[in-house]
Amino acid sequence: MGRAMIGEVRMGEESMVDRQKLIPWWEQEVVNNSYVLVAGAGAIGNEVLKNLALIGVGHILICDMDVISTSNLSRTVLFTKDDVGKYKAKVAAERVKEMSVCPDIEVDYFIGDIMHLLGNGVFGQFDVVLGCLDNLETRASLNKRCNLLQIPYIDGGIRELTMSVSVHHYPKSSCWACGISNRQLSNEKMIRYSCDEKRKRFVEEKKAPTIQISTAIAGALAAQEAVKILHKMDQVQYGRKYYFEGLTNSFESIHIPKRADCVCHHSYDKVTKTPWTNQAVLGEFLEWVKEQNRGEEFYIDITGEHRFTFTGKCKTCGAVVDFWKPDYLIYAEDLYCSSCLAEKNLQPGLSNCEEIVELHASDKRISGMTLEELGIAKGHIVTLRSCTEDSKCLYYELTADLPAVMKSLTVRDVYRE
Ligand SMILES: [Zn+2]
Ligand SMILES: [Zn+2]
Repeated sequence: MGRAMIGEVRMGEESMVDRQKLIPWWEQEVVNNSYVLVAGAGAIGNEVLKNLALIGVGHILICDMDVISTSNLSRTVLFTKDDVGKYKAKVAAERVKEMSVCPDIEVDYFIGDIMHLLGNGVFGQFDVVLGCLDNLETRASLNKRCNLLQIPYIDGGIRELTMSVSVHHYPKSSCWACGISNRQLSNEKMIRYSCDEKRKRFVEEKKAPTIQISTAIAGALAAQEAVKILHKMDQVQYGRKYYFEGLTNSFESIHIPKRADCVCHHSYDKVTKTPWTNQAVLGEFLEWVKEQNRGEEFYIDITGEHRFTFTGKCKTCGAVVDFWKPDYLIYAEDLYCSSCLAEKNLQPGLSNCEEIVELHASDKRISGMTLEELGIAKGHIVTLRSCTEDSKCLYYELTADLPAVMKSLTVRDVYRE
């Protein structure tokens, strides 16, 4: 009883962040005001999020499309048995809010395909992006977007008692992809895509052998690097990968040089905010762009992002199959006509899809479609290329979408000029 009393009195006098504020360079306000995007709310994501909550990061968006399974529970400090079957991102956001030491924490979640449904303008809202993922494809996508917006990217990985964390900030340093071989990426592509470059609907995920302890080390190191980045400390070494091998306790720090042939080295030079969302109709949007540019015509270039697919040919019988959607919504199993599918007559072959990567207002097939129907994500930054001068390029953000994606996180006025 007496002890509890002392505890209560102390609670009144102390603040939850007293200890960290004793660190000479620590600025609690910087931490409270920071925006951190965490991609992946699995094993490492849980550890990272717990750490971010306990130091008081004030604005966190958690992205994950999966639900909690029983086997997650041995490595996920934020989840309990009652959470099995619920969305990881949603439950993680609730727990982060409960445990945060930031008085007015803003934390929210995004459930879905980060690669295609989270626009680049959303990434632009954040000070640092943490990749807590189990596959190379999503990491590559995050890395590319961080490069475009010149945002620091921290990547974590674990295997048995080994963990690695790498820290990048293109163009100051190499990017994550500089440390990955083209072979690694193409192997990954073979696992996830058919030879028609369509996603396989069912991919057997490799289950990595891990335990909570090495996950905790990885999550701690990743979050600590984020803290240093938020404080803009000179000690942050971008373009480095840190390995901790827990069997022998060896710690290695490896410099990853910038690779001249890395295909991810692009950045937006200037991003223009617009009053549009991805509900805009292509023809109307491009008409507005034309007005903004003294009558010069532009088209939307989606090269390297996705392809818009009109039709394909059934791989078995050659009958025309209608798609009219972005390629990322088409699975390898969709490349057959309904009758061949019904008869289970699925021959290998090529589907010869009719696809485009240039969205022109003059293309009557698509000019009445919305940007969303054409596969452009909410809050995306669209690349506009001049119809007359190919090298001329503008980057327009679908800024009016940002509140809907950020939800309870306050949208910032970020300069990118
Ligand atoms: Zn690179
Ligand atoms: Zn067929």
